[in-house]
Amino acid sequence: MKPLVAIVGRPNVGKSTLFNRLARRRIALVEDIPGVTRDRHYWDVDYDGRDITIIDTGGFVPGEKDSLLQQVREQAQLAVEECDAIIFVTDARVGLTSADQDVAHYLRQSGKPVVVAANKLDSESGTLQALAGEFFKMGLGEVFPISAEHGLGVGSMMETVMGKLPPLSPEELAAREQAARAEEAAEAGEGGEEGAEEAPAEDEEERPIRVAIIGRPNVGKSTLVNALLKEKRVVASEVPGTTRDPIDSELTYKDRKVILTDTAGIRRKKTIAHRVEKFSVVAALKSMERSDVAVLLMDATEPAVDQDAKLAGIAEEKGRALVIVVNKWDLISTDKRKQELFREDLKHALKFVHYAPIVFTSALTGSKVEKVLELAVELAVQFRYRAPTPQLNRLLEHMSDNHPAPIVGRGPLRLYYMAQVGTAPPTFAITCNRPDGVPDMYKRYITNQLRGTFDLRVPIRLLFRERP
Ligand code: GDP
Ligand code: GDP
Repeated sequence: MKPLVAIVGRPNVGKSTLFNRLARRRIALVEDIPGVTRDRHYWDVDYDGRDITIIDTGGFVPGEKDSLLQQVREQAQLAVEECDAIIFVTDARVGLTSADQDVAHYLRQSGKPVVVAANKLDSESGTLQALAGEFFKMGLGEVFPISAEHGLGVGSMMETVMGKLPPLSPEELAAREQAARAEEAAEAGEGGEEGAEEAPAEDEEERPIRVAIIGRPNVGKSTLVNALLKEKRVVASEVPGTTRDPIDSELTYKDRKVILTDTAGIRRKKTIAHRVEKFSVVAALKSMERSDVAVLLMDATEPAVDQDAKLAGIAEEKGRALVIVVNKWDLISTDKRKQELFREDLKHALKFVHYAPIVFTSALTGSKVEKVLELAVELAVQFRYRAPTPQLNRLLEHMSDNHPAPIVGRGPLRLYYMAQVGTAPPTFAITCNRPDGVPDMYKRYITNQLRGTFDLRVPIRLLFRERP
């Protein structure tokens, strides 16, 4: 699970400047998804060998209508609820303000790891650096004089932030090692040979399937979770985690153990006074991080395509399997044609996740609720599917015969071998003569062929490599 690091502070202290500076280390995206990539307020970055997600909470809580104090409080609340560490940015040229003190009070009580950045200290001159001293009064510990604009002091501040994050779990360490080995093997290998893609077979049947239930507030997430738990007539065993882990619910479906992640958050939510809509993006980001499958709920009576598309985009970008659930269908119609029209519109609006199945449910009456679980389990299996190499190369041959690769630059694009180099999501490496010159249209063609051949309704990643 990638730790989340939040940046909070008053407007104009330099949060986005700091965010943009840190985002320079971002992990390359596979594909830009319109509407999701634009105007982003979070990035996955690699900081000294560890992947973290940084969030500019100012971007999530713009609150034009709210008072300044309320905006900053909401940001802090978001950070405290969802994040593992907090960077509290202040403007050292302006000095300590009462809004800063108010937030500091709240952060102190939360017990979350916080570092204070005294920003806009653009030179290392002693008099300037001394301005940072005032912020010690907030009682949040060490204060780092930084210049977000010029990068001064940011390194040592980040070192402290990284030190405050929860340590890597043994599974995370093992997964890292495995990924490094797979990468090495793939680089050394011919692509087509055995070995590279044969990661140690885990007990697939034993592995619990982790499902994140995501969606805007009030779409019916907790009603659905309760319906699922009731349907299976199991008492939800709440698996108590550390303070870092939310509480999950477990159930068994067709002999597979299924864990609904962060359902405690869903239940708990009711008691939190003000839940701003934007918060659901961060909560979703976080629970998707820990799951194989995301179940995205939408409200049939109130489609909010932008918000829903954003969540679907995160699932695609994070490479998670996705089930799209149109809930509260009982309030719409029993007419099959109406459903088909709705489905067509939705497919169009969410083109970038065209592979994701769509179900129409009523969490209230229980209609089609079990179908959600059935699909989640099905997709979880596809998510970890391993395609046999000989079959992949037959497919490659078939593609070259039927739909030859286009001419690229100085000559025809030649595809030599294809091998699966990873799962979750299925990732295929193709050895070819011009790895950089494969047109997007041809990539889509290959992806669709893979989907069709192996019945994969999950995200697929393609890598193109030169023959060693
Ligand atoms: P936000 O509202 O907290 O996200 O603040 P911004 O990142 O938009 O920055 C507000 C203003 O402060 C902009 O004009 C920035 O150029 C300026 N700023 C940000 N960081 C620094 C810095 O380190 N030094 C100086 N001198 N100005 C800065
Ligand atoms: P959450 O915020 O996403 O967890 O949403 P809730 O599960 O709390 O549901 C919000 C409201 O929608 C509640 O009043 C539910 O009773 C209602 N609701 C949830 N699912 C359905 C449904 O399928 N049909 C109808 N008619 N109402 C629903």
